[in-house]
Amino acid sequence: MKRVLVSTILVTLVFAILCACVTHSASASEARKAKKIGDRYYLSMNDAALLLGATKYWKAETRKAVLNVEGTQIRLTVHSPVVAVGEKTYVLPSPVLFSRGVPFIPVELFTETVPAVLGKRVTWNRDTQYLSVMREGTVPASVSVEVTEQATYVTVESPERIEYSPVRVSEEGFTLLLERASFLTKPALPENAMVKGLSVGRVSGGAELRLALAPGVSGYSLERKPSPPRIVLGFTSSEEMLRSSQFLPFEAEMPRVASGRNYRVVVIDAGHGGADEGLRAGGSVEKHVNLELARALKDALAAAGGLEVVLSRNDDSQMSVDDRAVRANTAGGDIFVSLHCDGYSGSQARGYSVEVLEQGGARGLAGERRPLSGDAAGGSSGNVGLVPWNEVARGHASESAALARYISRGLGRVEGLRDAGFRRAPLALFHGLDMPCVLVNCGFLTNPGDEALLRETSSQRRIAGAIARGIVEFVNDSRR
Ligand SMILES: [Zn+2]
Repeated sequence: MKRVLVSTILVTLVFAILCACVTHSASASEARKAKKIGDRYYLSMNDAALLLGATKYWKAETRKAVLNVEGTQIRLTVHSPVVAVGEKTYVLPSPVLFSRGVPFIPVELFTETVPAVLGKRVTWNRDTQYLSVMREGTVPASVSVEVTEQATYVTVESPERIEYSPVRVSEEGFTLLLERASFLTKPALPENAMVKGLSVGRVSGGAELRLALAPGVSGYSLERKPSPPRIVLGFTSSEEMLRSSQFLPFEAEMPRVASGRNYRVVVIDAGHGGADEGLRAGGSVEKHVNLELARALKDALAAAGGLEVVLSRNDDSQMSVDDRAVRANTAGGDIFVSLHCDGYSGSQARGYSVEVLEQGGARGLAGERRPLSGDAAGGSSGNVGLVPWNEVARGHASESAALARYISRGLGRVEGLRDAGFRRAPLALFHGLDMPCVLVNCGFLTNPGDEALLRETSSQRRIAGAIARGIVEFVNDSRR
């Protein structure tokens, strides 16, 4: 017993000595969550190393930390706002903190200093508290064309996943933006292909695949397939293929809600309001944009019939996240969609994203419906039966994820709007919502292209129409 204990201490000592000098290197990760301490946001040393793909060094005696990012050193000292990045010195708006044995670094290091010095693109979403690094470098891609009896398929294949967004979707032509992609060759087109012209061109951030379509093409499909990573575009002129759910008609009209569905009340939540303005960029104020989008979404859903729509706010009033949950639950909401805009310190980041509550902690609640009274939702400090208040929404995790996919697919058809991804986040907004719930970031107000789309009534209608279509398709395809 004693010998075992001694050897354990020895092993621990050796390990501790090793760790004091150099800790493990980490691979780059897409997103890490910041922590709110006081009224500021911080990233732990561990998360910082993961986010930047850095090797970290920590000297406990002097409380100095170093992050080595591809040969450039970021040197930090606990309780000091001064940070050295390579040869330069910067002063952060608040000092590095030290909590439970871990340094916490102000997020401004990642949003302002790191992009300026290391050229990495970092996005910061204050609503979700997530920092993410855009991936760099190009990915070689190849394109091939295959003709079947009823359709023509254009496949983009690459050794790793490529993000894409349709730039143009019309009967005459289809343009797909492929982030980071770089094409070496271009295929010959089979004579009977429904694609009559194919070109690839370099654009900022990647490549564009531009297709000219044959007369009579009436529908398309766009799918991602794994191993090897592929994006498959299909074109058809066959009515039969169009009736299959795989193909979408060009300029599809709003579908009607099928009768006998179990989702009836849709709660649309315009983010922010009152003194809480959200983002401000390019002359737009997020709280106003969110409300205009919410009203447009209400109109678009009315066109589908069969759904009752409730707005959590229909004016500039300020609402807490709890107010919003109570309003949604007492309205008997079956679906909750919160509308927001994204923002970033640079103007490059763009596109829409859909967020759902992060999973984990769910305790066999799936599918369970528990009516909540307004009183229980409002005042009684989390005492809502057997389930902790903040875990109510987790019971709807799989429905929420499905709803997010449908809305994302709907938004994917909006010309000029890029798919910026799908995220799981521990959003306080969702805590206590007893229904499937998603948050849609409809675009980046800080990107001039997106901001124009978000500001103008006609494109607001297109965005709202796309979200409505996603909701209606989700309702029509769901059985619960
Ligand atoms: Zn917002």
